[in-house]
Amino acid sequence: MKTMCSREQDVLAAQRTGTWTDELRAHLAGCGDCADSLLVAGFLQEAAETAEAPVQEPGFVWWKLQLRARRDDAARALRPVILVERAAMAALGLGLVGCIAWMSTEAAMAAIALGVLSVAAGSVVWFAWSRN
Ligand SMILES: [Zn+2]
Repeated sequence: MKTMCSREQDVLAAQRTGTWTDELRAHLAGCGDCADSLLVAGFLQEAAETAEAPVQEPGFVWWKLQLRARRDDAARALRPVILVERAAMAALGLGLVGCIAWMSTEAAMAAIALGVLSVAAGSVVWFAWSRN
């Protein structure tokens, strides 16, 4: 079983009060137990200081809530615009492919265009719904 160093309390007290003696410093340099204790004490002190952070001002909290509400409103307002954008993109894609199919007189070109049309229509629909 590990036994704690007898100087541990002296080291921690020195850390708290800032009263280090040369002898204690020399001991700390060669004592792993005291070095560990000092490290843990530092973490605990830091955590305690963080927990004591001042409570947020009511005005600041209100401002943050306002900002969040405004952001939510903006996202809601944009939703129909995004839908129309998707529909327009789908129409444009279909129209382009339709034009190409209409302009090409050869049967092979029409077949290719039909294939492209199917792929484009599929991908447009997939694109429109995948961004939901
Ligand atoms: Zn020690």
